[in-house]
Amino acid sequence: MATPPLPTKRGARIDRATNTKEILSFLRASGPSTQADIARATGLSRATVNHIVQTLRDQGAIEYQWKNRREALVTLTSTRDSVASVIVREHTVHAILFDFTAQERFDVYSSDFPEIDEPQTSPAMVLGIVNRLAALAKARNAPLAGIALAIEGPVERESGAIAPWAWHRLPHWKQVNIRQYISRHLRIPLVIDNDANFAALGEWTWGVGRGCNDFLHITSSEGIGGGIVINGRIYHGGTGLAGEIGHMVIEDAGELCFCGSRGCLTSFATERAILRALGNTGRPRTSLREVIDGAQHGDAACQRVLSEAGQHLGKALATVVRVIGPSVIAIGGTLGWAGDIVLDGLRSCAEVINLRAIGKAPDIKVAEILEHATELGGLAAILSELDLGASSLVPWMVAPRPLAAASA
Ligand SMILES: [Zn+2]
Repeated sequence: MATPPLPTKRGARIDRATNTKEILSFLRASGPSTQADIARATGLSRATVNHIVQTLRDQGAIEYQWKNRREALVTLTSTRDSVASVIVREHTVHAILFDFTAQERFDVYSSDFPEIDEPQTSPAMVLGIVNRLAALAKARNAPLAGIALAIEGPVERESGAIAPWAWHRLPHWKQVNIRQYISRHLRIPLVIDNDANFAALGEWTWGVGRGCNDFLHITSSEGIGGGIVINGRIYHGGTGLAGEIGHMVIEDAGELCFCGSRGCLTSFATERAILRALGNTGRPRTSLREVIDGAQHGDAACQRVLSEAGQHLGKALATVVRVIGPSVIAIGGTLGWAGDIVLDGLRSCAEVINLRAIGKAPDIKVAEILEHATELGGLAAILSELDLGASSLVPWMVAPRPLAAASA
């Protein structure tokens, strides 16, 4: 066995860099903390923590929030520049510029720019919008420092492109290596992921997943997807498709799905499935929000169908729990608004009850960020990529403003 090298100046530098990263990721995960908390959590000495905290403060990466005259909480400073969070859907691109200097956000949609808008989104549309945001950020003296790009579809790791089974929804993205395409035109840091993964990261950073080392987040709205955050990082697996629970088979003889399987979770616990189930009652509803509203006002059919969606979700989650064993599971997306109606159904499902037989069952909660979790998760991802962070979501970050407000 080789003898470990003697400590050198270079070694000390590497240690300091590792310790600094560890402190930053602790602050990102835990929010404002005292130096004593940091020392306890990281196992570093108080002196080392103090030294690194001072250095980071001098560099402007962190700041103090005084609890009283003697004790301060250490909190992350966000960037002084702008970052953008962009979401690509089937028919629209939604982009948000977060200007950390002015502490304002601006929301733009592809329909705001008729000259580049198309019925189905394309890489060129995204580039057109990002270029406009970069110009706006520059004009506001808060240059664009990085972009998070969320795609409403699975992104394969090897090809860097959308998985073939989503090509019918995103035809212009077929076989496009998204990172290569954007980076060729725009040389700034870029993080790309699917919408469910960013939503999970948003909920982990600022919601019920905070401080949890093994977190599973489910987004159920028009579609259903999952995101796994392990030790503060989105878990992608070798394929990039980890967490794609929408096409887990729940009923062998169920309805045929576009993915080629039968009885996928998608056909039980999404908006379309829930609305279809209510179609037979003679009182069809037009949106999941309407169903939830009905259930909360005592409509028995709406309550029943949401509770059943919860049970189907429970059946799928019980299998996931046996494989990855998350400590906390959050139910987000529109379905999250149903709260206990869905959770009670989920917890009453036999497979979930049986989980206790294998040990401690996970804590299953409703997500805190039910609106715009993907957009905010994109923000968390790009701040993290830039070695920055925001210790809490402050009002301006969650207050959409139209582009017109930027020139007002
Ligand atoms: Zn399927």
